[in-house]
Amino acid sequence: MPAKKVRTLDDLDVAGKRVLVRVDFNVPMRDGQVQDDSRIRAALATLTELRQRGATLVLMSHLGRPKGVDASLRMGPIAERLGERLGIDVRYLATDGPGSADAQAFVAAAPSGSVTMLENTRFDPRETKNDPAMSRILAGYGDVYVDDAFGSAHRAHASTEGVARLLPAAAGRLMEAELRALGTLLDEPARPFAVILGGSKVSDKIGVLAHLMDLADRILIGGAMAYTFMLARGGQVGNSRVEVDQVGVAEDILAQAKAKNVQLLLPIDSVCAAELAAGVEVSIHPSAAIPDGLLGLDIGPAAISAFQEALQGCRTVFWNGPLGVFEMSPFDRGTVAVAETLAALDAYTVVGGGDSGAAVHAAGLADRIDHVSTGGGASLELLEGRVLPGVAVLEA
Ligand code: ADP
Ligand code: MG
Repeated sequence: MPAKKVRTLDDLDVAGKRVLVRVDFNVPMRDGQVQDDSRIRAALATLTELRQRGATLVLMSHLGRPKGVDASLRMGPIAERLGERLGIDVRYLATDGPGSADAQAFVAAAPSGSVTMLENTRFDPRETKNDPAMSRILAGYGDVYVDDAFGSAHRAHASTEGVARLLPAAAGRLMEAELRALGTLLDEPARPFAVILGGSKVSDKIGVLAHLMDLADRILIGGAMAYTFMLARGGQVGNSRVEVDQVGVAEDILAQAKAKNVQLLLPIDSVCAAELAAGVEVSIHPSAAIPDGLLGLDIGPAAISAFQEALQGCRTVFWNGPLGVFEMSPFDRGTVAVAETLAALDAYTVVGGGDSGAAVHAAGLADRIDHVSTGGGASLELLEGRVLPGVAVLEA
């Protein structure tokens, strides 16, 4: 099922125009400061190109999940950081939302060639309802609309889907790159194609697992997810995190893999401890025979070797979800080892998922992965074969 073509910046005339751009600046904040500006940097290609082509920019994004106005989630610090990255002053006014009367006046006063950052779209309760009244106000800010917020494309909101119906609309360069990278996995993956899935819950990943089952040659499962599969195989997993209500689903996946001749690999062994704490005593046990009182917190050394071997020779690899509790040493080893293997592999490599992306960045390996997606939920929904509402509206 080849993805339909979306309109891009190549299809838009922006010279001398006001361009309303939806970006995903939902960045991690700490003490009122931007903690990691990867998402801001990821939008620079689009913003710089639009400025060079003579556009006046009006930007909007959500930040966090505020219910109404929340002073700790204002876009001010983000506008400032963006200004540093662009080397210009970014206009910003603290308001009750992007559509308030003072926001409208502020946008109307924007000089030609300027960049204005609107207030957090989620301050306005109409945003998540995709309320047409809000979309109309936003549409009034631009002659054309550009969506570069891949991470928000799986939600039909006023600033993503609603407004795109009201103006000539196109995908920004980041959105375009995301769709191309993930589309390659769905349409024409070079084989063998391996999928590595980890993270905490089978229930989060079941959709993508079911869909990729028809596409992948090898599926490697780690993380807490693996223990639910161990139960499905009749193993003992001690106190490891499991989803008892997903055991049937896991059994079904195992049966499907067999029927479809997909090689499904579970971790042979696990790094275990009595609790998740720094400096705790660790031991290695078979993942299907973890003693009571211990929990599996990472894939073990034999599992790492088996995973590395299974990845050798693969031409395409998609990875979502850390293989252990990578936030705490030494339970990051499996995740880091597999990230290193991926970086060194002569294959087309894509990492999707908030935590797996963070793990790859933390290991300093992001540059050696072909594509690290900025959209966790959006990338999974796309790979589940679903149509993203924010993308469908940009189709040519
Ligand atoms: P992503 O954001 O990449 O999609 P998830 O959100 O699904 O990944 O899962 C990430 C979380 O899974 C991390 O917080 C990690 O600590 C947790 N996790 C991984 N392995 C285990 C495990 N064995 N036991 C408990 N939690 C785990
Ligand atoms: Mg996550």
